[in-house]
Amino acid sequence: MTDLRRLLPAEMDELVTGAGFPRYRSDQLLHALWKEGKTSLSDIRVLPAALREHLAAQGYTIGATTETLRSASDDGETAKVLLKMADGTLIESVMMQYPEEGHHPRSTGCVSTQAGCAMGCVFCATGQMGFKRNLRAEEIVAQIMHFANLLRERGQHVTNVVFMGMGEPLANYAETIRAVRLLVDPRAFGLAQRSITISTVGVIRGIQRLAEEGLQVGLAISLHSPDDDLRRRLVPTAGPGSVGRIMEAAADYFHRTGRRVTFEYALLEGVNDSVETARELAALVAKTGAHVNLIPVNPTAGGFRRPARARTLAFERVLRENGVNCTVRVEKGSEIAAACGQLRTEAARAGALQATAQAAHRSTAAR
Ligand code: SF4
Repeated sequence: MTDLRRLLPAEMDELVTGAGFPRYRSDQLLHALWKEGKTSLSDIRVLPAALREHLAAQGYTIGATTETLRSASDDGETAKVLLKMADGTLIESVMMQYPEEGHHPRSTGCVSTQAGCAMGCVFCATGQMGFKRNLRAEEIVAQIMHFANLLRERGQHVTNVVFMGMGEPLANYAETIRAVRLLVDPRAFGLAQRSITISTVGVIRGIQRLAEEGLQVGLAISLHSPDDDLRRRLVPTAGPGSVGRIMEAAADYFHRTGRRVTFEYALLEGVNDSVETARELAALVAKTGAHVNLIPVNPTAGGFRRPARARTLAFERVLRENGVNCTVRVEKGSEIAAACGQLRTEAARAGALQATAQAAHRSTAAR
């Protein structure tokens, strides 16, 4: 079976015209998939039955994505969902809304690119879960379509996408890039390239390849420490000298794309949150003009704690005084466990995951 949402518009044109139908049928199909969010081929009534039947006979379908759990923050601005893919794999995605006066809210979808993650960051619930499998491009974009369909009911739409959910996007490079191309193609989802940010823990070869794609997407690199040894303790899969190589790759990305990189920095109490560390970080990044996003970490199974607010602000002040453009990430959904991997972990704890897995197993066995 092939999910129709995997096909880029040019591939869709080829499929439709190759079957003897005019190209405008491809436009209609793309519109139904991406602008109307149709989830069943048989619902796309604008297409002639002969085309629908031909596609179904060739094994084309629209993959089922089922929401199995949702938790929303008290203010309703953050929703985290656990989605079950067609094979029963569970992944999580988050939608964050930022009210804007006189406009619809900015609605940012945060997508997973892998089920689990092999990078093993010690403060991350997903990292502690281990790697299950890469997601396919259609499974990545299905997360955004899920939110787009929810928002459409309110007359709103997804305005931004961040690749910051479960997994390392650049370790699933080809599928991540295909998903980006589907999201930015005007005949598919049609989002502005600059509305998309890919977040990486520092896969150097992936950053270099991304710089050559001819895309204008934002890049966020999780740095977490200006010191190599400490960084390797926090991100065990980082190679020796990773800090220096990340700085080179970030400079190259800026040079090639004109887009400055954001450095993400998870603040861990007593680990990387001292004023001295802030000075070292400032010395490293000030001349690059990069932005630093400080993220007071969510408590996870790693046993790390979030620094007190005053300590976070002191860290931020040192960076600013030393010429670094920085922000403290707006707390979105920490009360609903919105750090990557946490909803899935909590679902497992509550037994919901087990129940879902058993149900999936039962339905597979019944086939
Ligand atoms: S922080 Fe990101 S890269 Fe690190 S283990 Fe978690 S999901 Fe993977």
